[in-house]
Amino acid sequence: MLLDTLSEVVIYHVAGIARWVSPSVVDLLGWTAEELTGHSTAHLWHSDDFAAVISLRDAVYAGELAALQGRGIFRARHKDGRYLWVDAALRIHESSTGQSGAVTTLREVTAQVEADLALADLEARYRLLAENSTDVVYQTDVDGVIDWVSPAVAETLGWSPTSLVGQAAMELVHPADAIEVLALREDFYAGKPTARGPIRYRTAAGDYRWMSVRAHPIFEFEGRAIGAVVGLRDVTEETLARQALVTCERQYRLLADRALDLVYRADADRRVTWVAPTVVASLGWTPDDLVGTVMGDLAHPDDAAETAMLRADLYSGVAATTGLGPSRDFQLRMRTKSGDYRWMAGSATAVVDEDGRPDGVMTGLRDVHEGTLARISLAASEKLFRSAIESAAIGFAMTSLWGAFRMVNPALTRMLQRDESWLLERDMFALVPSEEHDELRRDREMIIGGKVETTTCLLRMIRADGETVRVQRTAVLIRDHAGEPDYLLLQIADVTLEFAAQEQLAYQTFHDSLTGIRNRSWILDILESDLRTARRTGLHVGVLFIDLDNFKLVNDSLGHAAGDEVLKAIAGRIAAALRPGDHVGRFGGDEFIVVIPDIHAAKEAELIAERICLEVSSGLEVRTHRIVPTVSIGIALSTSASTASSMLRDTDAALFKAKNGGRARWHFFDQAMHTAAVARLTLEGEIRDGLERGEFGVHYQPIVSLIETRIDGYEALARWEHPTRGLLLPVDFLAVAEESGLIVEIGAKVLNDVCALLAARPDIPGRVGVNVSAVQIGRANWFARFIETLKRYDIDPSRLAVEVTETAVLSLPPATVTNLQAIRDLGIAILVDDFGTGFSSISVLRDLPVSGLKLDSRFVHDLTASDSVANALSAGLVGLASGLQLTTIAEGIENPLQEGVLRAQGWTHAQGYLYGRPGPL
Ligand code: C2E
Ligand code: MG
Ligand code: MG
Repeated sequence: MLLDTLSEVVIYHVAGIARWVSPSVVDLLGWTAEELTGHSTAHLWHSDDFAAVISLRDAVYAGELAALQGRGIFRARHKDGRYLWVDAALRIHESSTGQSGAVTTLREVTAQVEADLALADLEARYRLLAENSTDVVYQTDVDGVIDWVSPAVAETLGWSPTSLVGQAAMELVHPADAIEVLALREDFYAGKPTARGPIRYRTAAGDYRWMSVRAHPIFEFEGRAIGAVVGLRDVTEETLARQALVTCERQYRLLADRALDLVYRADADRRVTWVAPTVVASLGWTPDDLVGTVMGDLAHPDDAAETAMLRADLYSGVAATTGLGPSRDFQLRMRTKSGDYRWMAGSATAVVDEDGRPDGVMTGLRDVHEGTLARISLAASEKLFRSAIESAAIGFAMTSLWGAFRMVNPALTRMLQRDESWLLERDMFALVPSEEHDELRRDREMIIGGKVETTTCLLRMIRADGETVRVQRTAVLIRDHAGEPDYLLLQIADVTLEFAAQEQLAYQTFHDSLTGIRNRSWILDILESDLRTARRTGLHVGVLFIDLDNFKLVNDSLGHAAGDEVLKAIAGRIAAALRPGDHVGRFGGDEFIVVIPDIHAAKEAELIAERICLEVSSGLEVRTHRIVPTVSIGIALSTSASTASSMLRDTDAALFKAKNGGRARWHFFDQAMHTAAVARLTLEGEIRDGLERGEFGVHYQPIVSLIETRIDGYEALARWEHPTRGLLLPVDFLAVAEESGLIVEIGAKVLNDVCALLAARPDIPGRVGVNVSAVQIGRANWFARFIETLKRYDIDPSRLAVEVTETAVLSLPPATVTNLQAIRDLGIAILVDDFGTGFSSISVLRDLPVSGLKLDSRFVHDLTASDSVANALSAGLVGLASGLQLTTIAEGIENPLQEGVLRAQGWTHAQGYLYGRPGPL
């Protein structure tokens, strides 16, 4: 029943005989179902299509077609004899009886097929029209590349149609007309009228023909232009005729405007007999001046030979004629009335008397001075230009506006490893990798479009061996006499080496040479920039300060090369644990920094730290030793007030916690650390301000001689008169001052005060000791500044001592030790302060220019009346020091007992509250 109502016709047939036909067949083909049932279906098909129907059916039966079905469009016969186009679908059908037949479904598609055919026909007709037209018709893609051209092009322009397919139509256009074509293209893509011209197209022979141009864009359904059809009509003859008329008119006008400047007649003796009474010539002579003179005498001496030859030449041709003899054109310089010379072009005609003898010359002269000068200098500069380009070390080329080479210099052929002739058959595009064509095109449009006259860009060019060269290409637009764009002058410099060097430099600037990952300066830059972004987005930046545990051990036991290997491996492992947007850099030594942008919560940073710990800590084989590296990590999250240095400080504090906690772990920067860090930061700022406001000063503590019981010197101690906290001791500010380097300024201030005091008070006994820290001595100009202050106050060096702590001395780089030596050589005493608290006290005494030592107050504090370890130590030390002839000062003496013991042991000096507290002097 369903089949009965279908508009499609269904036929079930077995072996070509219709067994069942749907009733709708009458609507489609006029036959009733009954009329067809039981008969062959062969007569239903157009005889031309029958073979195709059979082969479709055979293919379906043979199982060649997928799913045992096939389709085709065929003509079916209507009962009234008409043919209809039907879409026939054929499918194998196995009936329940096992008998195999086929079902054919027919649907009429006459309307569609006819429309298609009409379109194809139309297209064929248009093509035919185009092919048979005497006009040239071509079709281009959107880039102006020709993809079809009518045969008429052979006759009109001499090109074979196939030779043009694939070429840019623009290459055929005379360079001077290029702008016109560009305008045309812009016009018609903008939907404006599209006839232009005439425009010159190049023929196969190399000359040009004028063509009138009509262009139509071709659009896709969406309305996007995908090309153009262009019709050309040869209008050369009309155009030339019109131009000839214009030229003729122009010449005539020229003649009228600039009639000959001077016309005269000379006799056989060369004397001027007559001068045309025209205007006063540019030479300035009046006719009266000239009559009776010899014009040749006015010629420039360098041109005299030429005038003589001219005359001889004229007369030699006279023989056969009478009246007027032969004419010669010439050009020479003539003297003006004011004495200088001007270039004149002339035409001289011999005059012949009745007997055929030369009878003088009729001459017309025209002033061509400016033009000639210009031409001469042009020729000279052109020659210069050519030879400069030929011998230039840099590549030069002249190309058409579209890039085709017209001239190349030897440097360019060397650079590209190509012959001149090879290059002259190609254009820039053939030598530049396709990725850079767009750039090249953009550049060209800018120039030709008149936006700029010069462009410079960096390109790659391909050499004959396939390698690419980096070049810097500068293009300059050269215009013709009429000011129209004519060609491009290219300067092509090989910058491959510079480029590589620059890349290398850029690489080195931002990479760590050992591990290949980013270096400190790069990671700090990225941190700064991520912090800026975070302030905008409101998210956080996470910073991980990673320190390799026990790295010193690896270095010391396995050597530096092994240490380097470990660092490389760790760098790789850290990088592997990161997500794509995270950054890692080597901060120095065994420290790495990881910057994680866009963090929402602390958890994310912790996860990454966890992953790094895990990734790093798998076994590592180094020089046959197996180690399991671990790292400690300090983590901090940014706040809106964070800076790169505050983040580093925070992570450093957190790292310290992690290390203290037993290594191989991470620690988050917490509030307590934060408070301490902030306090330090505040203190640093306050010290700076305090220095500026002169709040730093010096207190002096006496040093007494234990032998003579009298004051024998002082120690200068820095003090800070804080505006709100009162008098501060070094313990309150020294650590921060050293860390921040501000100790240098504090030290300078102390020395200055001491010197001022010594200068004002010659009565002060002994030396005044000034404390200096390692940071100060390590500064390049410390010694120079020290001496400078001494000189300024004219202080005798024997009135000063410098106190350096033992630990400070040990941390000094060897080079700066010479500074101490120099101080000592001046006669200033060098005292080792806090002696006994360092590690290698005795070697210090041996290796350094030491004058004395100050026993640390801790030893003094422990002294007892009877024998004790402290007593033994101080006794030993003083023995050692006096053996070396050193001054020995004991610090921190608070009671007579201590004084008694030390004096008995042989200490020469003492300092402590027992004798006086530090105070102003
Ligand atoms: P120092 O050089 O060992 O100076 C001796 C310190 O011991 C001074 O502390 C002094 O006040 C203290 N003192 C002296 N006698 C006694 C005593 O009998 N009992 C006790 N308990 N203490 C005593 P101060 O002034 O606080 O200086 C501490 C440290 O700061 C100095 O130790 C010195 O290393 C450093 N320092 C002071 N001024 C300067 C300076 O201008 N530059 C540098 N770089 N460091 C300085
Ligand atoms: Mg001291
Ligand atoms: Mg001391």
